Amino acid sequence: MIVIGGGLAGLSSAVALAEAGHRVRLLEKRPHLGGRAASYLLPGGEHVDNCQHVTLGCCTNLEDFYRRVGAADKIRFFGRLLFADPQGRRGTMEAGALPAPLHMAASFALFPLLGWADKFAIARALLAIARSGGRPKDISNDAGGVTMLAWLRRHGQTDGAIRRFWEVILVSALDEQLDRIDARYGIDVFWKGFLSTRGGYRVGIPCVPLGELYDGCKEAIRQRGGEVLLRAGVRGFQVAGNQVTGVEREDGSLETADYYISAVSQDILPGLLPADVTQREPIFSNLRNLRTSPITGVHLWFDRKVMSEPFLTLLDSTTQWVFNKTELNGETQLSDDGGVNDGTAAAAQGQYLQLVISASYDLVPRSRQEIIEQCINELRGVLPEIRSAKLVKGTVVKETSATFSPAPGSDQWRPTQKSPLPGLFLAGDWTFTGWPSTMEGAVRSGYLAAQAILSEIGQPQKFLQPDLPAEGLSRIWASKS
Ligand SMILES: Cc1cc2nc3c(=O)[nH]c(=O)nc-3n(C[C@H](O)[C@H](O)[C@H](O)COP(=O)(O)OP(=O)(O)OC[C@H]3O[C@@H](n4cnc5c(N)ncnc54)[C@H](O)[C@@H]3O)c2cc1C
Repeated sequence: MIVIGGGLAGLSSAVALAEAGHRVRLLEKRPHLGGRAASYLLPGGEHVDNCQHVTLGCCTNLEDFYRRVGAADKIRFFGRLLFADPQGRRGTMEAGALPAPLHMAASFALFPLLGWADKFAIARALLAIARSGGRPKDISNDAGGVTMLAWLRRHGQTDGAIRRFWEVILVSALDEQLDRIDARYGIDVFWKGFLSTRGGYRVGIPCVPLGELYDGCKEAIRQRGGEVLLRAGVRGFQVAGNQVTGVEREDGSLETADYYISAVSQDILPGLLPADVTQREPIFSNLRNLRTSPITGVHLWFDRKVMSEPFLTLLDSTTQWVFNKTELNGETQLSDDGGVNDGTAAAAQGQYLQLVISASYDLVPRSRQEIIEQCINELRGVLPEIRSAKLVKGTVVKETSATFSPAPGSDQWRPTQKSPLPGLFLAGDWTFTGWPSTMEGAVRSGYLAAQAILSEIGQPQKFLQPDLPAEGLSRIWASKS
């Protein structure tokens, strides 16, 4: 078997096929694994992620994949979510003693950064989602879906509720603005993450550079006689009639296999196929209808400790998340309630923060210097120590096509993992998984592609993990809907 692309989709399909006993050759164009969820060395010697990546408790397949490759203990889960507004006021959301979907009701009621009118409106809309088992009847129309913003307006949400609650969670989870999100995706985030179970919302953060999470993949593939080749870009597929007969590498060599999985992104795949195939098969030409949206990561190194929390979510700011990388990657003991017990030697010398801004359309044309200045200005109110700290170094990484946009109707352009060409299977967060463009979606696609091949050769095996089962009242409502 040949897998093209060493992102999470390619890696998870390759590991699954290897576990099923097959010899897999994985061809990755870049010098490192991980694709859009990767890390690399800066000229100064720091090992940084292209952008902070987080997972949630409800991402059951990503968790399964990390377990298979021995990386599960490198993810630290936090049950306490900390929010801050530009004046520096803090608010917390976390699960209390009540069963789902009421587990966060107490901290929500006490949350100081929302008004009562906002809270009542939010509670009504959340109840509508929970009582429908995550499938409200009013989320589709003939044109292929309503936007999240339209759904929220229909459910009487105040401006404050939209700006300080729905937008804060959904823009980061789906990397898109509310008026461009299919309500089905937005509602799914709340159902799976916050309402159906008590643990779905817990935020998982790698405590090593992303690249280290994939070390076990190479071993899993090698154990079955396969191999992972880096700097091994593929120029194109060879197709005879309708059958894929080989892949041509960028160095001109030809590789052949019984089955091929393409795990490159949707904008690259059509260019790897002969033009007559993409013209003949609409599933390939239609991929251009999947739009993408940007994410901007801002990396800041200060000369002293400026932040004590492991991470913060900001309201009413351009900056959406601030990650305290020194503490998250260091040896400091982080307590489960999100507090930091002690400063490390590294923190005493300085601190590295990583800021994330999703759907960052406005930042794309702006200079890196302008972006850094704007973010630091915002942080001064939230982290007052920054006022007296010196910025030692700053860098901005703009990923202009970070994820595909979950626009209303976008599901119609997402093909299943079995392609119309015999021998060719597709993986990638953009293939049809039911999930948005996330690490979880990528792993689901990889497992589904591996399952499709194994079924075709008469050795069916299941890798796809089920969602967390709904609990408490949510379970009763889900079974009735
Ligand atoms: C800045 C940013 C922040 C994000 N934050 C999060 C987050 O917090 N949580 C989350 O769940 N998701 C997040 N995502 C989304 C997540 O990273 C992606 O959904 C996921 O990594 C996609 O994996 P993939 O394998 O489908 O595609 P990719 O990661 O794009 O993998 C495709 C691979 O194919 C390789 N390739 C391309 N062309 C060729 C060729 N010709 N020959 C051989 N190889 C080739 C590429 O080099 C790449 O390694 C983020 C994405 C970005 C960009």
